Amino acid sequence: MKRVGVLSLQGDFAAHGAAVERAGGEPVFVRQREQLGGIDGLIIPGGESTTMLKLLHYEGLMEPLAEFGRHKPIFGTCAGAILMATKVCSPEQESLGLVDIAVERNAYGRQIDSRVTEIEPDPEFEKRTAPGKLEAVFIRAPIIRDAGKGSKVLARYKGDPVLLEAGRHLVATFHPELTGDSRVHALFLEKL
Ligand code: GLN
Repeated sequence: MKRVGVLSLQGDFAAHGAAVERAGGEPVFVRQREQLGGIDGLIIPGGESTTMLKLLHYEGLMEPLAEFGRHKPIFGTCAGAILMATKVCSPEQESLGLVDIAVERNAYGRQIDSRVTEIEPDPEFEKRTAPGKLEAVFIRAPIIRDAGKGSKVLARYKGDPVLLEAGRHLVATFHPELTGDSRVHALFLEKL
């Protein structure tokens, strides 16, 4: 069984653990760098990226995570996607620089900052998982403004990428761990 680390410093790591189990993996709740040696891939959950950054520094995990990502797959959702980006704005913020995307934090504004909606995934996503629309939960989500040439957009919302694969990594600006649909986690497990 694939051992999937879930970074558990802050945010909705428990929901990711349950989603990993539903997708057929074994979740490992990662709080210390020593644990990175025993996992096949890592999920960085949603939460508050600024707070997570502080905790990552406090735990001495910034460089170990960046190094892990140079060899193994990481799946970042929402705040996790922000941490994985090469460029963060609104406001500018440090990041791990693992995925060639520019993200604008809290980009949907105050009026509609959170919502649940159905999106049509790219046919490639359905081919690699199973057919059907995706329920997308957005919570103070960022928008991916620029994506590097090597990346593959697997779903869009209002024209902007919301699920993107970049080499071994995967990022989502919505929260697939909060629905009963485990296809996005299953796709990540396929990459391990
Ligand atoms: N707004 C948060 C941030 O900027 C992300 C929200 C989330 O992860 N649901 O870090």
